[in-house]
Amino acid sequence: MTTTTLETVELTKSFGGVHAVDGASVSFRPGRINALIGPNGSGKTTFFNCVTGMIKPDSGSVTYRGHDITGKAPHRIARAGIGRSFQLCRVFPRMTVLENMLVSVRSGSLVGRLAPARQRGDIARARELLARVGIDHLERAEARDLSYGQQKLLELAGVLMTDPETIMLDEPAGGVNPALIDRIGGLVRSLNGEGRTFIVVEHNMDMVMSLSDHVVVFDRGRPIAEGTPAEVQEDPRVLEAYLGV
Ligand code: ADP
Ligand code: MG
Repeated sequence: MTTTTLETVELTKSFGGVHAVDGASVSFRPGRINALIGPNGSGKTTFFNCVTGMIKPDSGSVTYRGHDITGKAPHRIARAGIGRSFQLCRVFPRMTVLENMLVSVRSGSLVGRLAPARQRGDIARARELLARVGIDHLERAEARDLSYGQQKLLELAGVLMTDPETIMLDEPAGGVNPALIDRIGGLVRSLNGEGRTFIVVEHNMDMVMSLSDHVVVFDRGRPIAEGTPAEVQEDPRVLEAYLGV
């Protein structure tokens, strides 16, 4: 058992003159609910994008379970066991809920070549996961007809289709009503109980403090503090980053 699941060393990504991620060295341990917090524009989403292959970093490395995954294509990183959601929820608005679930496993393969048994297996799994997130009654609805919170649940269920061992969520509670925030928190907890590691970017501090085991605080593209929720709340560097005092 390794003590580190995901590790970045001196990860760097600039956009023109903006140092979005600026020499970030972070390591996350397996089995935890890790939170990644920090002011707007501190590079959290860019960090996620570099780790999951959506963006190639300028320099530095990303290692997952001892394997170098720096700059690899998103589908290869997904196959390595990392799933993710997006800050602005990504679902296909004119596809049904069930169809959305199936495209999440079939992207990258030719649908026509899939054996019927495999397709039936995927449909059964999709239904099971939709039930788990509580939207199975909506399987025939078009995704655009779901509330934003329901779309977030659909996105999370889609992430689970590939059975990822590490799940990165970018602001799962953003724009979601309190009842669904509770449901999302409960799902994260129960999925973690099954051994899945989480890395969650979130602004809702109640959620961060109640859910996470370990908090990493970003400011200006790199970690400035980490520890338990109670530790980071009292850290003067964190207050300074947020309040500019
Ligand atoms: P966070 O998720 O912490 O709010 P981001 O990673 O979205 O931060 O952004 C970090 C910085 O990088 C910001 O200054 C943002 O404007 C800039 N940035 C992010 N993505 C791009 C992009 N595609 N092009 C140009 N600048 C970007
Ligand atoms: Mg962001």
